[in-house]
Amino acid sequence: MARKYFIETFGCQMNVHDSERMSGLLEADGYTRTDDETAADLVVINTCSVRERAEEKLYTRLGEIRERTAGGPAPLVAVTGCVAQQEGEALLARPGVDVVAGTQSLKRLPALAEAARLSRTKTIDVNPHDDVSFPLGVVRHSDPVRAWVTIIEGCNEFCAFCVVPYTRGHERMRPAADIVAEVREAVRAGRVEVQLLGQIVNHYQAPDDSSCDFAELLARVSAVPGLARIRFASPHPRHVTPALMRAIRDLPNVCRHLHLPVQSGSNRVLQAMRRRHTRETYFDLADRLRDTVPDITLSTDMIVGFPGETDEDFEDTLDLVRRVRFHSMFSFKYSERPNTLASKRLPDSVPEGEKTRRIVALQALQRDIQAELFAGEVGRTHDVLIDGVSRRRAWEVTGRTSGNLIVNLPGPAEWIGHLVPVRITEAAPNSLRGDAIGPALAPAGGEG
Ligand code: SF4
Repeated sequence: MARKYFIETFGCQMNVHDSERMSGLLEADGYTRTDDETAADLVVINTCSVRERAEEKLYTRLGEIRERTAGGPAPLVAVTGCVAQQEGEALLARPGVDVVAGTQSLKRLPALAEAARLSRTKTIDVNPHDDVSFPLGVVRHSDPVRAWVTIIEGCNEFCAFCVVPYTRGHERMRPAADIVAEVREAVRAGRVEVQLLGQIVNHYQAPDDSSCDFAELLARVSAVPGLARIRFASPHPRHVTPALMRAIRDLPNVCRHLHLPVQSGSNRVLQAMRRRHTRETYFDLADRLRDTVPDITLSTDMIVGFPGETDEDFEDTLDLVRRVRFHSMFSFKYSERPNTLASKRLPDSVPEGEKTRRIVALQALQRDIQAELFAGEVGRTHDVLIDGVSRRRAWEVTGRTSGNLIVNLPGPAEWIGHLVPVRITEAAPNSLRGDAIGPALAPAGGEG
């Protein structure tokens, strides 16, 4: 009988995609997936250390798994991802953990699990591995419409608040030929949107072709027949080139949306964060982007209460938000992450109550701006890529505009994966409503 695996994922899109990769590798090794952890021979917990108390949450979850599987044959338990990378041997020493695979060792998961199973001893690999190749056609896509494709692993930037360079290692680029092949494979498997993933996607430089930077990579991916949309996350403001702006303007299937993390509106705080951009360069960039691609939408990430952030610094953040007018924003209260530069050098000085006051004010401002921008969409038409049935109403479908705005509209589930021209009729706080004004079109193609 085939062995079964259960996989649980915490954290960002990168982690979700790593789980798709590990699932594919395990299935290639003969496992089948189960959604019932008590029926699994192998339980994989793919962890994230970006949020607070990640280790505590992991240990609680491990305890639950032990309780739920008590009485039957104990499954092997593998911990992967950022907490595995950071905790290493200490994690392996915990009861109920059999395998620890770091962020650069996920390809070794089946072998580590097999070694642990055969020898009934614990196995671990948290070593750095420079090899970023991945077998073609193995990823188990978890979304019916879009596929994620990693283009860069790791990061060299060392922003003071961020743990990623420590958990995911130094920046390693995948060959352009491998990326394009994986995109073709995803289209062959029925996906019509790809999202290129990396910590700083626009720092991309192909290791196999010196003429291929990120803008050129977009052109090569754009030429894959049958691909309706290309998105990418996340670019760094420092590396947005005129060529990238022209690529967004000129390549028909590259989405007209840029998620451009700014993190703060204060130059003093940006410097303390080691972001290496200023509010002025950010304003200039937003202006140039909007000059080149007038209908582009911008979104961002913001941190409030970074060590040393004063009222005046925070006012600069509000001012930046008022001036740039983002279509959406992810905002967070600063909290210390182990091993980061900020945790070693900068005391977490802003009181919790003040952080809360600031994030409430920031989010209220963003809500007002978003409401105005969304109200301005009423009466406009957009091509919406339908990606699911609406959660609230079974007769409605939901999708996104090129600018990444969510639109709900009456329509059948058969439209999933199709582009539908939609006139916007109504704006809600976080989404739009509309009506189809033309036929739903399947993206042209398949492999030519
Ligand atoms: S650019 Fe900064 S915030 Fe982004 S992953 Fe790298 S270190 Fe972290």
